[in-house]
Amino acid sequence: MGGRKKCLVTGGAGFLGQNLVRQLVDSGKYDVTVFDIRDSGNSSVQTIVGDLRNLKQVEEAVAGCEVVFHCATAAPAAANTANKKLMHDVNVKGTQNIIDACVSQGVARLVYTSSASVVFDGRDLVNVNEDAPYAAKPIDYYTETKVLGEKLVLAANGKSGLATVALRPSGIFGEGDPLLVPTIVAKAKQGKMGVIIGSGQNLMDFTYVGNVAQAHLQAAEALTSASCACAGQPYFITNAEPRL
Ligand code: NAD
Repeated sequence: MGGRKKCLVTGGAGFLGQNLVRQLVDSGKYDVTVFDIRDSGNSSVQTIVGDLRNLKQVEEAVAGCEVVFHCATAAPAAANTANKKLMHDVNVKGTQNIIDACVSQGVARLVYTSSASVVFDGRDLVNVNEDAPYAAKPIDYYTETKVLGEKLVLAANGKSGLATVALRPSGIFGEGDPLLVPTIVAKAKQGKMGVIIGSGQNLMDFTYVGNVAQAHLQAAEALTSASCACAGQPYFITNAEPRL
């Protein structure tokens, strides 16, 4: 245990969370606890089954942690009223609970998993950097909650010494992917992939889950204080080379 930093991974039973937990454990630098509404099934780490919407549970979970990785999200779903409330309660109020708990429990660093879609309003974006403004009209309600969550996290930088950073991956693929590649394969098997809409030249940014997880470790290492260069900043996470 000596010298290892105690950290919490919210959403550690999920796709990215499981990969992040594996890298944190493998690094030998962290004593990892998962906080998730479902059991992670990972016996090599402690799992707290809890709900982000419950501030008391969140406070108990972050107590004693040096770093919190906030990866949990309500699953993107069709935006009916019930889903919207769930999405808002988990992704916005739940994120506020994480911030409040980090502040009250003296957590030093908060790494938030945001999304590249926070700047996407439906128009093509090529070679943009983090100066790009938030989408005036996010493409769906899930994305709207990611914008709100990211703003809360970045605004909390410096609050009682808490250092925060937001990471913005785009589409994620890799080991344990429950959605992206399985959906494409299922559609292909149904013969539904034979149509090209538009020129076929559209670009979409996909990033390997191991790289997204690694970015979280590197962000936590770089986030040395609330006044360091990356504190209070968002970063796109991508495999892609700039297009010249
Ligand atoms: P996922 O659905 O696989 O994992 C999310 C986890 O959050 C699940 O294990 C779920 O049980 C947990 N969770 C949901 N509600 C909760 C609650 N109320 N309390 C506690 N835990 C709760 O999602 P993922 O694909 O691993 O995404 C991880 C993060 O990455 C999210 O913040 C997501 O917005 C972001 N992201 C994902 C992608 C992608 O392509 N998968 C792209 C960009 C950003």
